[in-house]
Amino acid sequence: MWTMGLVMSVVGSVVLIATKSRKDLRISAAPLWKTGKNEIGSSGNFFTDIVDDWKNNEEETFKKFDVDRNGLLYRSEFDELVASLLTDPYGSPYQLSEEQKEELFCHADPKMICSPVTKKTFRLLWKNWIRKILSPVTALIIVDVQNDFISGSLALVNSPAGQDGLEVVPVINGLVTEIPFDVVVYTHDWHPANHVSFVDNVALRPLHPNYTKSPDEVQVLDIVHFDDQWGTEQTMWPRHCVQQTWGAKLQENLVVVENPVKIYKGQNPDVDSYSAFFDNSRRDHTELEMELRKRGVTDVYTSGIAYDYCVGFTSLDALDLGFRVTLVEDASRGVVDDSIAAMRTALLDKGAAIVNSTKVADMVSGRDRNARLAQYLMRTIKV
Ligand SMILES: [Zn+2]
Repeated sequence: MWTMGLVMSVVGSVVLIATKSRKDLRISAAPLWKTGKNEIGSSGNFFTDIVDDWKNNEEETFKKFDVDRNGLLYRSEFDELVASLLTDPYGSPYQLSEEQKEELFCHADPKMICSPVTKKTFRLLWKNWIRKILSPVTALIIVDVQNDFISGSLALVNSPAGQDGLEVVPVINGLVTEIPFDVVVYTHDWHPANHVSFVDNVALRPLHPNYTKSPDEVQVLDIVHFDDQWGTEQTMWPRHCVQQTWGAKLQENLVVVENPVKIYKGQNPDVDSYSAFFDNSRRDHTELEMELRKRGVTDVYTSGIAYDYCVGFTSLDALDLGFRVTLVEDASRGVVDDSIAAMRTALLDKGAAIVNSTKVADMVSGRDRNARLAQYLMRTIKV
């Protein structure tokens, strides 16, 4: 079980400071959500000025950057295009290294030999890269903002990192009420009573002969090795989010939009499911990928509980599936400091962006065109 005394003695004071600074960030940033796209006005940046009317600009764009009018974009011309495309909301270019610029240029060539971009290649690049950057189709995934993780049996505040899950609620409410996502997804951890992850269920299944503890010695956060056909290794948790109980309900102050997508995961008693896409052994999947695909979603924003488990694994799977992924860091809270840091690194290494909620409105509108997401997209598309 969670040991409150240990938590307080080890991390109590640090957590107080961290919590305060996160709140301050959120409060100071709130007015930026009100920055409507039209208030920014003409920036002098080609793509920023066409972002609201990009559809018929393919020809015009090619001509703009084909300075010598030879029907090809050479490296220097393509670099100019990238410098104009990958900019902050005010039209200032994000700084890319030479290696990053070269990678973008070479991936833009279907033969990958870094030759100049022809009009034919540009047509594909316009459709699969530039258009998605200027006009992303966006989904906000709100992961497991449920009572048990906030004030119930698995309340984050009692976990080793001592973070408060309740703090995600106003940040997420700000996102869903201020920003026009194309779809908003609410995921639910949704377990049957005999679920494999509950520490008080450990005696329900045979333990692997090599596992050294007896069922009475097993504690929360132990990784138990079960003797089943899959060789399941399962982190133990307090009983939580049992289907149809108060603990499995969304936190009452969380704003639920009209026509949301709701996803229920972890329903198989024998396998846990951190990701909202797949169970932990990828034996089964939810409807989430289908729901995103049928709406043409290009970009996924993730938030909720817990950063190092369900938010993190949902984000990693979204990347595997080819979506551009942005984790909204101040809209998420985690369980253990070290695993939060490890998840952060894993997400960045795989091509996700990690931002504060104040950045999201301009990213969703196509005015803030994140270089990291552009680079990830170029790697995943077939030009
Ligand atoms: Zn669970």
